[in-house]
Amino acid sequence: MRTLGRLLIGLIMVLVALWGYFTKTEVNPVTGEKQRVSLTAEEEVTLGVKSAPEMASQFGGLHPDEQVQQTVKRIGQRLVQQSDASRSPYTFNFHVLADPNTVNAFALPGGQIFITMGLLKRLKTEDQLAGVLGHEIGHIIGRHSAEQMAKQELMQGLAGAATVALADPSSPATSAYIAQYVANIVGLKYGREDELESDDFGVKYMIQTGYDPNALLDVMRVLEKAAGGQRQMEFLSTHPSPANRNQRIKEAITKYTEANPAGVNPPS
Ligand SMILES: [Zn+2]
Repeated sequence: MRTLGRLLIGLIMVLVALWGYFTKTEVNPVTGEKQRVSLTAEEEVTLGVKSAPEMASQFGGLHPDEQVQQTVKRIGQRLVQQSDASRSPYTFNFHVLADPNTVNAFALPGGQIFITMGLLKRLKTEDQLAGVLGHEIGHIIGRHSAEQMAKQELMQGLAGAATVALADPSSPATSAYIAQYVANIVGLKYGREDELESDDFGVKYMIQTGYDPNALLDVMRVLEKAAGGQRQMEFLSTHPSPANRNQRIKEAITKYTEANPAGVNPPS
């Protein structure tokens, strides 16, 4: 009897988790795609803002040079405001992490974007920086981390864990959730399609803003070189071979250049 009881409880927990996952369907306001996410857009913004200090503390804090911070914010905001990304419900902000050795960039849900000094110092042009930021903006617009979190919550049977944790922002459960959340984002492996979609968004936003989208191909070379064959960093964590991915970036450049011949923001 006791075994049967435990089995039943287990079954109910599985059903609750599945129910939580499959009822959390939202239509992406920018792409129109139906997605399973565990957070509303508003909750994504809240979680991102609350998680930003934890992200900074894991990479040596924010870089102290205010001018560097402002330059990255200016380029990031230009990409958001002069492209389709401006139609999203998110509040974007851009930060430089002090860590000079880690070569990486991250996107927290809701609009908080980070680049390490280790990556920033390897970039040679503003267009290349726009390539990195455009790709990360793509992850946010695509809601990729919210999708990944919904899958993880499903696997762990934690339906709606984020909603519960955010219900009382001052509770210890919330800080524990945020610490876990940031750790997950740092170690997050997006899917192949997520990376390709973010490259596509990145190219589109660069062209709409007037940046040279070919700089994204330079960024891929910079990252390949810095990685030295390792695939741990965010941009390279995925399966499309670099050749395949570069091919897709070139196709996106052709597609969006034809759609936007002047390289300026299309009339809305
Ligand atoms: Zn990526």
